[in-house]
Amino acid sequence: MMMNSFNPATDTLLGKFSIHDAQAIESRLRVASESQKAWARLDVRQRLPYLLQVAAALRRKKQELALLITQEMGKPLSESLGEVEKCAWNFEYYAQQGETFLADQVVASAASDSRVVYDPIGLVLAVMPWNYPFWQVMRAAAPVLVGGNGMVLKHASNVPQCALALEQVFKDAGLPEGLFTTLLVESSAVRGLIEDERIAAVTFTGSTPVGRSIAAQAGQALKKQVLELGGSDPFIVLADADIEAAAAVAVKARFSNTGQSCISAKRFIVEQSIADRFAEAFVAGARKLVVGDPLLPGTTIGSMARGKLREELHAQVLASIQEGAKVLIGGQPVPGPGAYYEPTILDHVTPAMTAAREETFGPAAAILRVASVDEAIAVANDSPFGLGASLWTGDLDRARQLSRRIEAGAVFVNGMVASDPRLPFGGTKQSGYGRELGHLGLHEFMNIKTVWTGPATN
Ligand code: NAP
Repeated sequence: MMMNSFNPATDTLLGKFSIHDAQAIESRLRVASESQKAWARLDVRQRLPYLLQVAAALRRKKQELALLITQEMGKPLSESLGEVEKCAWNFEYYAQQGETFLADQVVASAASDSRVVYDPIGLVLAVMPWNYPFWQVMRAAAPVLVGGNGMVLKHASNVPQCALALEQVFKDAGLPEGLFTTLLVESSAVRGLIEDERIAAVTFTGSTPVGRSIAAQAGQALKKQVLELGGSDPFIVLADADIEAAAAVAVKARFSNTGQSCISAKRFIVEQSIADRFAEAFVAGARKLVVGDPLLPGTTIGSMARGKLREELHAQVLASIQEGAKVLIGGQPVPGPGAYYEPTILDHVTPAMTAAREETFGPAAAILRVASVDEAIAVANDSPFGLGASLWTGDLDRARQLSRRIEAGAVFVNGMVASDPRLPFGGTKQSGYGRELGHLGLHEFMNIKTVWTGPATN
């Protein structure tokens, strides 16, 4: 059985890669498990230099890796380069902070010597999506590895070359063989992996329906899981905001990564009194986007990752228009080869319309006009999702109060939602649970152990 590597921007086959059969999976899991046990016995200070070596290996091959990302999923090369760079930063961050994050916590208020220590739990299975084929994996891998765990990757089947290149990065960096293992397998193999006794936990990033199924399987096997799922992030612009600044950031927040990000702003909830000004500035910014060959330096919107995803997005746009939304710009697939879609802005969207109800995973924005601040918050929360939210206002005291009322894993005030190694990342409601990044991301996959020591008895 083979897995295809396909360039969605040119509709060409890049190569075919053999899927790992049962025997290969067994031998790779055996090596990974043995390697992890030895790694777990190292002191955290002995692991830190390896993380720096991973960062260096990523930087050495930055051009080559970025090209692979762009070829397999179509985003502009400049964004792929940024993605590889961010992975390197993440490894450096955990190399700097790992010892502090894993230090014993003495519980001063408890009797005797009571402390919390962080022990590794084993191999973490990572089931990952294609939209940031390096970042999604590496943001999970750095804390897993610094904590003394190992990682087994089942990547999305449209990015097999990225999946193999990730494993090679760890080899180049000199990490113990198999500590990071890629399995080229189809999604039907995931259940068996979750049940395998060498897998201790699961981290999943992807869509909500698949997350639900993986959670059920991991629950049945009683294995810890972190779920990073879909989103329909609100971008709330209040009447006292800097409209021009908000509109400029809105373009980036919706259209970078060709709109295929879980934390892309998707619902632009704008107070009626400034909605015309915001929409005009947003459209003017979107008109400057350059759709085209993702390898060309000036391109800002590449190809979507698969033709089927473009069809799904277009169906959502058409349904919303049918329901009464007005097209301000775009609204059509770009004819010719590749899965290109015009940057699209829909206005007069209501919470009942498809573009507001469903996650739109591509370059299409929905503007929802509201009469008051309270309505803005109610509309923002009127979603099954709760990943990120962006809030624009000139009044920072009010922003702090309102941010507590927004049902999301993160609120960015007067800025765009972004992941950052230093800040916990994750969702609430149907966007999942658990956190990645920061110190909380590291503690997710540790055995948080209480050690109580009484007086010496001899
Ligand atoms: P997806 O279809 O859920 O796939 C994600 C991963 O799950 C892939 O490796 C896929 O493998 C695997 N998979 C699919 N069906 C499976 C099944 N029945 N059992 C086990 N594994 C299965 O998601 P996607 O379309 O690749 O990614 C887009 C989604 O991810 C969006 O909803 C987006 O919001 C979400 N996302 C969330 C975050 C976050 O941090 N919250 C970040 C990025 C993306 P195959 O490719 O082999 O099917």
